[in-house]
Amino acid sequence: MRTLARAITGMELPAVEKISESQAEDPFQILIATLLSARTQDATTHAASTRLFKRARTPRTMARLSVPEIERLIYPVSFYRNKARHVKACCQMLVARFGCQVPSTMEELMELPGVGRKTANLVLILGFKSLQNICVDTHVHRISNRLGWVRTRQPDETEQALYRSTERRWWPYINLYLVTWGQNVCRPVYPRCGDCVIAEDCRRIGVQGREL
Ligand code: SF4
Repeated sequence: MRTLARAITGMELPAVEKISESQAEDPFQILIATLLSARTQDATTHAASTRLFKRARTPRTMARLSVPEIERLIYPVSFYRNKARHVKACCQMLVARFGCQVPSTMEELMELPGVGRKTANLVLILGFKSLQNICVDTHVHRISNRLGWVRTRQPDETEQALYRSTERRWWPYINLYLVTWGQNVCRPVYPRCGDCVIAEDCRRIGVQGREL
């Protein structure tokens, strides 16, 4: 992890991290940006989030937008129709049930429409500075299996396995480090093992083909 921390210095940050840095870790903006980010390129997520927050910055103002307007603002993120419905429903619930505040527990976050463990963990880590959570997305799932840290089939399983196999002090950083590594070096297809600073510690489980 220390090697990775040094190696990612200067690399482009994942979209939600960028939004988190630029918006002083506002849990609401982290929540919405994470909802938009699923299966979407970082640059697209960042641009869509910026357009949406320019139009509405609070749960109350965003809940007043119509679904078609949210769709227009967030297009072309993938599944923009579903995501627009979730954004509106999520904001409505924040207003009606949580006093316009993003809740700070896993259980309450999971009540929000469209919010799963990945989103909830990222909101807790970036928005509430939790040191108790690991956020597992496809990059974290793929790389921790390649490294041999875990042997799992699903991201939720990976999250639980990582709590057992990694040191607690690294939990809040695992997502940032592995997502950045996954976007730049340990890519889904043709990982750049020849340029990888942690190759010596990697078991390359399931990695096939030549090194690039
Ligand atoms: S050695 Fe290859 S598979 Fe292992 S972390 Fe590095 S890029 Fe990924």
